[in-house]
Amino acid sequence: MEDMAQFAQLAQLAQRNPEIKYTEIFINNEWHNSVSGKTFPTINPATEEKIADVQEGDKADVDKAVAAARAAFKLGSPWRTMDASQRGRLMHKLADLVERDSVYLASLEVLDNGKPFVDAYEGDLGEIVNVLRYYAGWSDKVCGKTIPVDGPMFSYTRHEPVGVCGQIIPWNYPLPMMAWKIGPALACGNTVILKPAEQTPLTALHVAALVVEAGFPPGVMNVVPGYGPTAGAAIAEHMDVDKVAFTGSTEVGRIIQQAAGKSNLKRVSLELGGKSPLIVFADSDLDDAVETAHGALFGNMGQCCCAGSRTFVEETIYDEFVKRSVARANSHTVGQGFDLKVDHGPQVDKEQFDKILALIEKGKEEGAQLGCGGSRHGDKGYFVQPTVFYDVQDHMKIATDEIFGPVQSIIKFKSIEEAIDRANNTTYGLAAGVFTKDIDKALTIANSVQAGSVWVNCYDPGTLQAPFGGFKMSGHGRELGEYALHEYTEVKTVTIKLPQKC
Ligand code: ADP
Repeated sequence: MEDMAQFAQLAQLAQRNPEIKYTEIFINNEWHNSVSGKTFPTINPATEEKIADVQEGDKADVDKAVAAARAAFKLGSPWRTMDASQRGRLMHKLADLVERDSVYLASLEVLDNGKPFVDAYEGDLGEIVNVLRYYAGWSDKVCGKTIPVDGPMFSYTRHEPVGVCGQIIPWNYPLPMMAWKIGPALACGNTVILKPAEQTPLTALHVAALVVEAGFPPGVMNVVPGYGPTAGAAIAEHMDVDKVAFTGSTEVGRIIQQAAGKSNLKRVSLELGGKSPLIVFADSDLDDAVETAHGALFGNMGQCCCAGSRTFVEETIYDEFVKRSVARANSHTVGQGFDLKVDHGPQVDKEQFDKILALIEKGKEEGAQLGCGGSRHGDKGYFVQPTVFYDVQDHMKIATDEIFGPVQSIIKFKSIEEAIDRANNTTYGLAAGVFTKDIDKALTIANSVQAGSVWVNCYDPGTLQAPFGGFKMSGHGRELGEYALHEYTEVKTVTIKLPQKC
């Protein structure tokens, strides 16, 4: 946001009661009730009250969506015969429409997800628009190679779309996650069945309406709201889905990979959990390191797969770092996201809320020192106080398990070798950060830590042109940047016999 006056103006616009326009299943550019007739409630996590009943997609609805996506992918269909540049224009148009409706969509997200309006508007809406535009630009730049093969032969590759793509997304960043998935898929010419998380189905359904307005042919993009073990599983197991892309927990990632293995060996990409280390050396700019480590964990109420959830601090600055981190965590205004002063909203649902509070209790039990927070905030809504633990030991549950909540664990270290060993002592490998002014230390950490992204003197700066994804049990495949295009294309080699070598 350029200035506070502009923000104040926007916040005035934030619609505290945005109209709920779409609650049905979106197939073939049309709205459908569920085949079973079932609906499910979506809840406002700040009030624990129902926002709306949404049509509950299940296997029968997924079958319909897959049939529509398959028909839209057929050779000779409008989507397959469309110029790649025209695909890009449709995606730009979709981005323009999302931007037009940004205030409404951000308001809807505050209601459904709970995040503060400014985070939804500046963060999530800014990101979906940028990612859609980035991939719109790629549409007519996805190309193969010519290859100097042996013999009188001409060989070239075509990067063809994979086909019907199932995309299962989480609730922490509903719109950015949607863009990370549909952006490269559509740019490469695939068709999509997207399943938003059951906690946050509303914004994806509005974007579906914009898909029609933008002029996409029917069946190219389908949105099936519903639960994971039913609608999500139906996508993962489907014999006519060519690829499944998933972001969520490691536990569900495993189920999805198994389902792909047991059905048609569909291609799988997984972006899963993390327990990412942020290593702060004594030579860091302390103010910057404290603030960045704070943001790395407390951003989005800790509900971020790459959250810097193990803050390793060199012993000579440890006490001061802890003191400042506690003061920073105490500075939040906790409340419901339409309130302008609020910078810390509720967790997304009761399940997450209960899980986080249980892990906080475990931290206390196991002997970590509580710097601040440590319980729920208020008595209504799924609010958890910003919590800082220090003197955390590697074996404690708060140091090993993904909390996905506003709980910072500060850990003391002495040497760089020890920091590397302990940072890598996890089954995860999504991200890592290092704060130091010493280039040798920075590069040693960058090269030694097993993680898909390493950030030096910053943390998750949101570089959508660069790839993102996990080592180890944080998943496989890469999203964002040019790398994501590989996940959504098949490489076909064409070889032509020539009369002679020339
Ligand atoms: P979280 O633990 O962050 O809620 P999940 O991994 O449970 O994340 O959910 C992420 C997404 O995966 C959601 O859209 C959810 O509905 C879906 N999901 C959950 N269980 C399954 C499953 N068994 N098969 C397919 N999708 C699932």
